[in-house]
Amino acid sequence: MSQTTQRAFVVEHLDPELGPWSALEYGCIARESHERGARFLLSSVPAELQMPADLAATKGLEVEQRSVEDIFADKKERVCLLDPAAKVELSPEDGDNFDVFLFGGILGDDPPRDRTSELRKKGYVGRRLGPKQMTTDTAVRVTRLVVHEKVPLEQISYVDYPEILINEHERTEMPFRYVKDAAGQPIMPPGMVDLIKKDADKSIDLF
Ligand code: SAH
Repeated sequence: MSQTTQRAFVVEHLDPELGPWSALEYGCIARESHERGARFLLSSVPAELQMPADLAATKGLEVEQRSVEDIFADKKERVCLLDPAAKVELSPEDGDNFDVFLFGGILGDDPPRDRTSELRKKGYVGRRLGPKQMTTDTAVRVTRLVVHEKVPLEQISYVDYPEILINEHERTEMPFRYVKDAAGQPIMPPGMVDLIKKDADKSIDLF
């Protein structure tokens, strides 16, 4: 990274809507990036999209209607796409090779539908964060650990497919990989567990 260029994490929003789950993830990425002196851009946000108020007020969030291709048109070779299908794993040296780290703003799906391909076909260099699907905020967190804090990918501790207790009878498994915190728990955006519980209650009510 050149001295004058601040490292940027970019999430290209690929869904037509921006629901509560994405809002929690994006807010969490914005706060964590801001605290560590990195930029966070949420790109391709449609002009007519109603941004949730809490998210819009988050410090460190730069909302862009332009796509990543337009914003970084003059430095495409400095953009690295985090891509679950890439052949090369992300390494601490990539912090010097690239200034911009690009992620798909897609809700995780199980099985994954490879919507990251929408960004891959634009021709960016790709790097993988291991074989398991992460949530977008986890993918940004892991990338930051590797390129900002120079922790090799294989030295990061993870929790895979954690179970969330909905109530005394139900639990739900999250089909993703998360970073493990000091207490051994998966790191999730604040408010996420409550949202998952609320959504689970809603879907139970339907039957
Ligand atoms: N199911 C999705 C993946 C969503 S995860 C799909 O259809 O592609 C959201 C974003 O996090 C991805 O677009 C990618 O940028 C990043 N990501 C998640 N897991 C990753 C991994 N193992 N390696 C690299 N990037 C990953």
